Amino acid sequence: MDSITLRARFIIESSTRIHSPGYIQLRDGQVIDVGSLRRHGLSQPAVDLGDCVLAPAFINAHTHLEFSDLCQPLPPGASFADWIDAVFQYRQRRVADRHPQSNARQGANPLQQGLRECWEAGTGVVVDIASYPSELRYQWDQFPASPDHPLLLGGRRRLPPSANRHLLSTMFPRVIALCEVLGLNQQRLETTWQWAKGKLQEYDGWRPATTSQQLSTGGRRPGDDSATRCGANCLWQTGLSPHAPYSIYWSEPWLTRLAQLMSKRLVAMHVAESPAERQYLDDGGGPLAALWRKLQFPPEVPSPTLGESLRWFLQADRCLVVHGNYLASAELEVMHKHPGASIVFCPRTHRHFQHDQYPLRQMLTGRLTVVLGTDSRATNPDLDIWQEAIACAHQFPWLDPRWVVAGITSRAAKALGIQGSFGTLQRGAWATIVYCESRPHWTAENLFENLVADVQRWAPLTEFDESA
Ligand SMILES: [Zn+2]
Repeated sequence: MDSITLRARFIIESSTRIHSPGYIQLRDGQVIDVGSLRRHGLSQPAVDLGDCVLAPAFINAHTHLEFSDLCQPLPPGASFADWIDAVFQYRQRRVADRHPQSNARQGANPLQQGLRECWEAGTGVVVDIASYPSELRYQWDQFPASPDHPLLLGGRRRLPPSANRHLLSTMFPRVIALCEVLGLNQQRLETTWQWAKGKLQEYDGWRPATTSQQLSTGGRRPGDDSATRCGANCLWQTGLSPHAPYSIYWSEPWLTRLAQLMSKRLVAMHVAESPAERQYLDDGGGPLAALWRKLQFPPEVPSPTLGESLRWFLQADRCLVVHGNYLASAELEVMHKHPGASIVFCPRTHRHFQHDQYPLRQMLTGRLTVVLGTDSRATNPDLDIWQEAIACAHQFPWLDPRWVVAGITSRAAKALGIQGSFGTLQRGAWATIVYCESRPHWTAENLFENLVADVQRWAPLTEFDESA
């Protein structure tokens, strides 16, 4: 068969379009048709998935997969500087002894662990802040034993063999890796900048795998048609992340060099995350200054003001301002003038630090784009982006649940510049689909509020019966 059609009680094409009962037709891992069974009869046979909800796989706009081996978040400490110190110590220990630490999960490398965790909770696209000296290898090893392996939905319903080609072929996570640049002195900044520049050049023109078959034969580099095996790399796209205004050797010509790398790429920077950061950028003092003294990182140049750093960062065409917990109204206004800028809110990380009330209402009044992220296991118990949606809805009960879900689907895709391909199930999108069971009282009208209130977990549509 040259396509497969699935039907289900609810199909969420996008946050503004639900089909109930709906159908979706897939060919080679892409959506070729989607709609309501009430309006259209089906000419082709369909696999009935019954009482469930199908949705586009979610998008996590901010994490650091390198910390995915942590069992517990690192303690928030008395100030943000204590937490940074804890992260610093954790990294140092990891580099020094390479032995499992008391707070570390056993198993695969942290990138693989984190990626699998994201995927199993329904995330299809992960924006990872990659740190020096990462090789940007996001290995995926969850392949079926053979193409004829029985494919089961939710471990129960068997799908026809054609599902392997048309549905399974694109059921794997994608990573957008943003190379992190930081350093309070020129030497450290140059080291990370050289690495980031090298990685961006290495992957310029990278052709990401679009099907699991391409993925399983190894990612391909430009000009390499024979597909060297460099492992099944889920890397989709690369970009840059100047870490934060307080951790960068803030001077010309470095700002110009960084801006050149930022041009025409997706970029992210942590901004206005804590009161300690604000204080440090205001007067050069406070807990961060004390931490730099303790770690013997004397800043060689004065730091910028928050407004200056934000204006510099917003030169990029498409930028993610991460956190923005303490952005003042004047700074929010600066952002308003940049249509390519979005804010990433990480609700459970915000709660971990017990920050002041998140300025979401001001952001939305200013018509800013806000999307959601998990941040890492250094501030969060897991990497389940759906839990961020639930936490966001709890913290702000006045929000339209549709808006909340769009923050991990269609609006997130737009913020990242991957709309049309991910974050929706519209025609032409990659069929990376998640599902949950539905309840009898749900209707198309109340679906989003019920999802946010009742659903604890989503799963990728396809799972394998290990025993078969
Ligand atoms: Zn972060």
